[in-house]
Amino acid sequence: MDDRRKVVTFPFALYFSPVLYLSCWAGVGLLGLMLLLLGGCTSVDASTRPDPNALYRPALKSEFQNDLDLFGPAPRYTISATLLPDELKLIGSAVIEIPNTSRDPWTYLIFRLYPMLRHYGGSMVVQGALLDGKPATYVYVNENTALRLDLAKPLMPGQSVTVALTWRLEIPRWSDQSAVYVLFGRSQQMISLPLFYPSLAVYTNGPTIGSGQWWLLNGTERGDAAFNVASLFAVTLTLPSDWTPVTSGVEVARDELDGQTRYVFVTGPSREFLVHASPVFSAISAEAYGTRVTSYYLPGTEAAGQAALRYAVQALRIYSDHFGEYPFTEMRVAPAPINFRGMEYPQSILLGVETYTRHRDKLEMLVAHEMAHQWWYQIVHNDPVSEPWLDEALAEFSMRLYMENVYGDAQAQRLVSQRWIAPLEGLRARQQDTAVAQPVQAFLNGSQYETVVYAKGALFWDAVRRTVGVRRFERFLQNYLRKYRWKIITTEEWLDELRQLPDPAVLTLFEEWIGELPPK
Ligand SMILES: [Zn+2]
Repeated sequence: MDDRRKVVTFPFALYFSPVLYLSCWAGVGLLGLMLLLLGGCTSVDASTRPDPNALYRPALKSEFQNDLDLFGPAPRYTISATLLPDELKLIGSAVIEIPNTSRDPWTYLIFRLYPMLRHYGGSMVVQGALLDGKPATYVYVNENTALRLDLAKPLMPGQSVTVALTWRLEIPRWSDQSAVYVLFGRSQQMISLPLFYPSLAVYTNGPTIGSGQWWLLNGTERGDAAFNVASLFAVTLTLPSDWTPVTSGVEVARDELDGQTRYVFVTGPSREFLVHASPVFSAISAEAYGTRVTSYYLPGTEAAGQAALRYAVQALRIYSDHFGEYPFTEMRVAPAPINFRGMEYPQSILLGVETYTRHRDKLEMLVAHEMAHQWWYQIVHNDPVSEPWLDEALAEFSMRLYMENVYGDAQAQRLVSQRWIAPLEGLRARQQDTAVAQPVQAFLNGSQYETVVYAKGALFWDAVRRTVGVRRFERFLQNYLRKYRWKIITTEEWLDELRQLPDPAVLTLFEEWIGELPPK
């Protein structure tokens, strides 16, 4: 495709042990093969110690590659997966280097098995686990949505452990009607596989040493379910050559054998790694601020595919100008079996098939909302089950910036009245208005959840901007992005940021729109 594919940096292999380890332990992926060949090389001169982040750099634009050096120790996943679309199976193995970045010693690790969530409908069986090369014991917990792996000795803060896992995944097959909403599985000649691998749970420090906890909440269809620390991924994915993958990261190598294509992808800091694929995708690309944006589309929807590309390019530029530049070399937009809804993943947004056809009028707003999640979810992350408002309200508000910049103030004002004010007034007329800052399950139904968290949440952001002024508001967002880059934010931390604004009226706005102020 282009020269970026040649950039896998070989000397890296000589001391990135998990990769070598994977190639010996779990069969030779393409990445492993390349690295094994290097295993025979001579030793490395200590004075020219290779760059530990070299493998991941192609995922980021050159001016953001420094993020890899600055963001501190993070899980590193080296995954090898084979997708068998007709058998509805995925066979996977991973070597995961896990640093303990908490304040507590860890006596066990928790991996989330997201395909086991009821609304994902998959079935994941872990077949083996090694801890630093030795067989490890593990049990399924939390209604089989998590795996607990006991550590031979406590992992102290600052220490790392290497876990190797093998698993099999049964992929659910759903109806081929365009009205289905399925985040995971096969439908309409597409397979969506977010979180097809065991994903290290988020560990949150408690008020005192030793009181932290692994995150074990199970999200539902109403909101998002995945909560992850920013991690690095190197993924070897094998699938039939006629299937086109849509993923996170950037492709750095590809080879083909007997009708199967093996791709290698790497990411920069990333909340998860998406695999989505179809044998009938076509694609078109454009450039935006040094990022290649690719829009995939199904047969007969080329015009909508082109429109989606245009919207995504516009959104990427507008949000880069207002929040801070989009840091990755790739961004993708693709249809998925999620009717007229959208879903965000790192470096990819998926849009319901019906937004390319009968709900074409929703396509632009959906792209504008989902693209904003590349900042509010992927760069700054939050618990999507307990505090969904943190990313959703801001992603929704971001649409206003998109509208102002593309169509002008009058159209943006129409968005505010029609999309936010009208539904909120309807809710108030039914006496169902409630606080924005609540967990997903606290809302009566999907309609109340969406109107309050999205529309009312966006109106709050709009009120803050009006109160503090556009320039100060944008500086606030830019500082927020810089300070919490690749981190996880809570409502309390977010409030501390809000308090930095020199206008106490914003706290009144918070109480008026979002919820009670917690005691300081
Ligand atoms: Zn959203």
